[in-house]
Amino acid sequence: MEYVPTIGLEIHAELKTKTKMFCSSKNDPDETRPNVNVCPVCMAHPGVLPVINREAVRHVLRVGVALGARLADYTEFDRKNYFYPDLPKGYQLSQYEYPLVSGGELQGVAITRVHLEEDTASSIHPEGKHGASYGAGEEGTTVIDFNRAGIPLMELVTEPVITSSKQAGDFARELQLLLRHLGVSEANMEKGEMRVEANVSVSKTQSTDGTEHKLGTKVEIKNLNSFRAMERAVEYEINRQTKILERGEKVVQETLGWDEAKQATFPQRTKEGSADYRYFPDPDLPSLKLSEIAEFSEEAFRKAEGELPEARRARYLTLGIKPDDAELYIHEPVLARFFEGVEAEIGGDSERLLIASNYIANDLVKIIRDIEKRDTGYQSEIPISALYFKRIIDMVADRSLSSRAAKDVLLEAIKTAKDPQDIINELGLAQKSAATDIEAIVATVMNANQSVVADYKSGKAAALEYLVGQCMKQLRGAADPVVLREILKRSMGQGGKDAK
Ligand code: ADP
Ligand code: MG
Repeated sequence: MEYVPTIGLEIHAELKTKTKMFCSSKNDPDETRPNVNVCPVCMAHPGVLPVINREAVRHVLRVGVALGARLADYTEFDRKNYFYPDLPKGYQLSQYEYPLVSGGELQGVAITRVHLEEDTASSIHPEGKHGASYGAGEEGTTVIDFNRAGIPLMELVTEPVITSSKQAGDFARELQLLLRHLGVSEANMEKGEMRVEANVSVSKTQSTDGTEHKLGTKVEIKNLNSFRAMERAVEYEINRQTKILERGEKVVQETLGWDEAKQATFPQRTKEGSADYRYFPDPDLPSLKLSEIAEFSEEAFRKAEGELPEARRARYLTLGIKPDDAELYIHEPVLARFFEGVEAEIGGDSERLLIASNYIANDLVKIIRDIEKRDTGYQSEIPISALYFKRIIDMVADRSLSSRAAKDVLLEAIKTAKDPQDIINELGLAQKSAATDIEAIVATVMNANQSVVADYKSGKAAALEYLVGQCMKQLRGAADPVVLREILKRSMGQGGKDAK
C-alpha cells in the first residue's frame, strides 16, 4: 500500500525592531540581564494602553510583498485569551480574522497567511542551562524573564502542501534567508528567533477512480530548534504514522515534542480538547485601514524592494555560476556585493566571470575565513578592490599568470593593497611575464595558428590582422599595433624564406 506524507508548517519569527510591539521598551534579544527591558505596558499593569509598532507592521507587509501575497486593506488586533505564567495580561495580542498578509508562495509552497502578534515572556527553569545566571532559587521552580514579553512576532502558516522532510527543510531555510535579506529578523533557530512547528500526516495516495485525495490525521511537532532537528522529526513521524496505518490502526491527533537524545518524537500535551481562545478585537487598539496609510501602499513597497534571494539565485545560475557558489553569494551578502562589483568590472565576458567566481568562492573565501576567523557570516568588506581582482583574473584568463601564482598574488594584494601588476614584478611571479616579451608572444601565436600563418604567406592580407589581434589579446593590449605588425611580418617573412 502506498502512503504519502503531507506537511504544513507554522513558523514564528521575532522581528527586529527598536522597541516592543505595543510599548517603548527596548527589543534587545542580546540582553542578558533579566527583566530590564520592561515597562508597565509589557508587564500588564492595570490601566495601561498599547500602541501599535509601525516598524513591525512594515516588516510583515514587506514579507508579504516578497511572497507575492495579498496585503490586507482592513486589519485589526485580537485578544487570544488563555492563562499561562509567561502571559501577564492573560491574553496575547494577535490577529485572527484579519491577518496582515494572505496567500503568496515561496519555493512553490503556498502560504496561507502571515500575521503579527506579540511574544510571551521566557520561562526559565533553574536546573536548565541559564538557571544559575538568573540567580534563581531551587531546582524545580520556574522564574520568568519579561524582556521577551511583547516583542513583535510574525507567524507564517503554510498550506498543507509540502511532501517531504527535505522540502520542509528547504522551505524553512529559504524563509530564513528571505527574512535576513529583508532585515526583518535575525531568524536564528538556535536562539529561538525563528521557531518552526511542523504538522505531519500520512494518507493513501489518490485513488485511481478519481475520488478526492483526503488528508490524514495530523500531529503537530513543537520545540524543534534546528533545521536538522525539524527534518529528522518530520522523517520520524512519516515512518511512525505509516507503520500505524499499515497495521490498520489510527493516528491520534496530538502535539508532540522532539527528543534530540533519543531522536524520536514524544507526546507533549495530552489532548485538552481544542482550546477556546475566545478571540475578540482588542478594544484598546485602533483597527487599521492600510490603504489610507501612504507609506504602507503596496506599490511603495514594491518600488523599494531590490532583488530577492530567489531571483538572485536564478540570475546567478543563468550566468553559469556553479549552484554551490550561487548559494554561497546568496548567503553571504559581503561576497555577493564583491561578486557583483567584479561582474561590473568584467562586463559581458562570461568566461572570465566564471574564472572570477571560482577564485572568489575558493581562494578568496579561504583568505577571508582566515582573516575573520569564522566560517560564515562574513562582516567586513573584501580587502581588495574589484578592479585589482579583475586584473588578476585577466592575467589568469590570458594565461600570463599561472593559477598557482594567481593565488599568491591575490594574497599579497590583500595584505599590501598593492597593484597586482607591481606584485608580479616585485616577486618575479611573472613566470610568463615573458608574456610581456612581444617576440615570445609572436612566436607562440604563430605556432598556435600555423594555418593562418600559411594563409598570410599565400597572400591573404587579412590573416595578418587576425594574428595581430591574437597577440594583442595575449599582451592584454599592452603593445603598439604598428610595432606588432612589423614584428609579425618580419617573423613570417623569415619563416617563408626558410620554407622555400
Ligand atoms: P488547526 O486548526 O489544527 O490549527 P489548521 O488548519 O489551522 O489546523 O492548520 C495548521 C497547520 O497544519 C497549517 O500549517 C496546515 O498547513 C497544517 N495542516 C492542516 N491539516 C493538515 C494535514 N492533514 N496534514 C498535514 N498538515 C496539515
Ligand atoms: Mg490553526
